[in-house]
Amino acid sequence: MKITIHRGINQIGGCITGIESASGTKILIDLGHNLPDTEGQVEDEYDVPENLDRLLDGVSAVFYTHYDGDHLAFEAAVAERGVDQYLGRLAKRVKQKFYAHMQNIPVDSLKQKYKSTFQAVGGFKEYGADMPVTVGDIKITPYYVSHSAADAYMFVIECDGKKILHTGDFRDHGYLGKYLKGVLSKFIARKSIDVLITEGTMLSRNDVRMMSEEELQQKAYELMSGYKYTFVLCSSTDPDRLASFYQATRHQGRPFIADGYQCKLLETFTKQLKRNHRIYDFTDAVEYDGTLRHPLMDTGFTMVVRNSDKFRGWLDELMPLLPKEETVFIYSQFKGYILTEHTAYSASTDSFVHSHDWNLEYLHTSGHASRDALAMVCNTVNPTSAIIPIHREKGSDFTSLDISDELKDRVVTSDTTIDDIEIRVQ
Ligand SMILES: [Zn+2]
Repeated sequence: MKITIHRGINQIGGCITGIESASGTKILIDLGHNLPDTEGQVEDEYDVPENLDRLLDGVSAVFYTHYDGDHLAFEAAVAERGVDQYLGRLAKRVKQKFYAHMQNIPVDSLKQKYKSTFQAVGGFKEYGADMPVTVGDIKITPYYVSHSAADAYMFVIECDGKKILHTGDFRDHGYLGKYLKGVLSKFIARKSIDVLITEGTMLSRNDVRMMSEEELQQKAYELMSGYKYTFVLCSSTDPDRLASFYQATRHQGRPFIADGYQCKLLETFTKQLKRNHRIYDFTDAVEYDGTLRHPLMDTGFTMVVRNSDKFRGWLDELMPLLPKEETVFIYSQFKGYILTEHTAYSASTDSFVHSHDWNLEYLHTSGHASRDALAMVCNTVNPTSAIIPIHREKGSDFTSLDISDELKDRVVTSDTTIDDIEIRVQ
């Protein structure tokens, strides 16, 4: 078996992992874009057709761990080349809703682009938790993980008598994250994993304890108590964060309002996720269409917003009507996007966040595993041959984790062959 880390050993976002059996079956895990630069531009070698041809040469299928753009971005080009693409059932629905919404953009070339991505996603094959999919002589079993995206998975990949666990992006401090350790010890460690391929986003970002979504919800409630009108900028496709603000708002006895696109997503989350946890019941969300009806002014409200022309227009009309001392804007995303000195800085996000003279607050917790969670995964899975860290900043040191010396010795970041497993790092 051959494992190729095409991208991700020294970067967050844009990870691509190749698995090839001795008989020549090839699959890829994730194929997304590099993270955007400060101007919002994405530079990606796989936008060049010849490079993508080379990457996909002989590949039978691409398995996406979840739908974020740094994991899934070339769907139309992959479909054109006749390669099968697999995504979780709910994740596929969310991605379809996203591309359907993006076709409203009043730019013809973009409309066309989103039309073809929408069609490509429609052709995706679906996988479900604990239901193995076989491609040639490679077997892939998805297991649900908690992340800041709905319907995210890690994969156990069985090939040539070896077993790999690819974690995708995950955390243990989301609403369903507490099940991670049990799933790892009950279902995965028992399989005797040879190679662990794991994300390491937070390795170099932070070493303090991560706030859980429950704690964030409580803090949101306390913050909202000091104001009547709350605006929240958070990911529109992160059901955990939306649930935190939705529940905090309900406890305030106020309406939770969102635009039509967000309401459609909330409806989908309610339908598909409520059975997993009652926190995902968004039934009472109210659709906002740009007109401020009287009850909303009287009761106060929480409105989820996005950085778009539509919301900029709405906020320009709304803000003069709302007293500053009663209005708070909560920024609930990675802080690096609005810090000029950070490599992830986004001028557009920064200008949106500072577009009005509101009371600005920061409230966020990461969608990625803490150092403790990473150590727990390594210790619980206890892979016998190798640990390959991906989705991490250059130079971040996986051996600084609280893991045994034997496990530290198994950390691989360059080309090697161990126990008949060829590992290539590009
Ligand atoms: Zn990611």
